[in-house]
Amino acid sequence: MTGDDPADTGSRPDLPCRFCDASAASLQVVAKSPNSPGTPWSACSVVHPKPLYRIEGEPDRRGDGIYDRMHSVGAHEVLIENPNHDRHLWNASDDEIAHFLRLAAERILDLKRDPRIKYVSLFKDYGKNAGQEFSHPTSQITATMFVPRRVLYELRAGREFFVSKERCVFCDIIQQEERQALRVLEARGDYLALCPYAPRVPYETWILPRYHDSSFERAGLNRPGLRINLAALLRRTLQRVRSTTEDFHLVLHTSPSAIHPSKNLGYWRTIDDDYHWHIEILPVVSSKAKSYTFKEVYYSPVSSETAVKQLREAKIAG
Ligand SMILES: [Zn+2]
Ligand SMILES: [Zn+2]
Ligand SMILES: [Zn+2]
Repeated sequence: MTGDDPADTGSRPDLPCRFCDASAASLQVVAKSPNSPGTPWSACSVVHPKPLYRIEGEPDRRGDGIYDRMHSVGAHEVLIENPNHDRHLWNASDDEIAHFLRLAAERILDLKRDPRIKYVSLFKDYGKNAGQEFSHPTSQITATMFVPRRVLYELRAGREFFVSKERCVFCDIIQQEERQALRVLEARGDYLALCPYAPRVPYETWILPRYHDSSFERAGLNRPGLRINLAALLRRTLQRVRSTTEDFHLVLHTSPSAIHPSKNLGYWRTIDDDYHWHIEILPVVSSKAKSYTFKEVYYSPVSSETAVKQLREAKIAG
């Protein structure tokens, strides 16, 4: 996604930022997190100024030969991470980041209550080469009538592993990584940052809970210590990643909406056992990796073991 509004790409810093004063701009505020001292809000969710999906209407899913067609019904929100223009997820306070994580969990939970919604994605594109849309610290949320393809592959793989082993594949990965200690970047409370085996891009990093849970939003609102530990780990991990490159994609993978499990396809019946929420960070390195993306076969010139050594040694603040 790329923005076409030069005011928000950072190329015209003299123009006012519409997110710095969210109430003055013609933004449709959806939700705000409670105030931090001295600011009107800590994190704030607004309807995307040019939404890809709109909440009104019916999806009107229909066949067109072998293809599926539907209207782009859903929701598209911008999560303003911080009222300050220069406080990002890597240099804000853990308290501020925790407020953002709470709002994210609340928004995902709320959007999942709409029975038309099948999946809610939270993502952040930062930097020119990652398709950053706004210069203000923001993430985005889309709620869709379908499960995005990459998540669907992962959900299916998790379910298949569970069917044959009766275990969660992510829990197995975490156990092995902690035992081998070859690719673990850092642990913070119940949360772990690691460079996954067979990365898609150099310095790919995941953040996962060490305990089993399929739903970020449920854990995010109920689990003591989640927000503050995850905030610290996210902040420190992004500092490490940014020691290699400024630009990155960040995406949260959480469970799909289980309101309408498909009986025929047997979807999401074991979702609470077979899926495990996590955050994926995909740095965009300037020297493009030879990546055979058209076949979905990936080659990374930097191994996870080399990446983790370099990221561990990165100088980080606090
Ligand atoms: Zn701003
Ligand atoms: Zn698990
Ligand atoms: Zn994932």
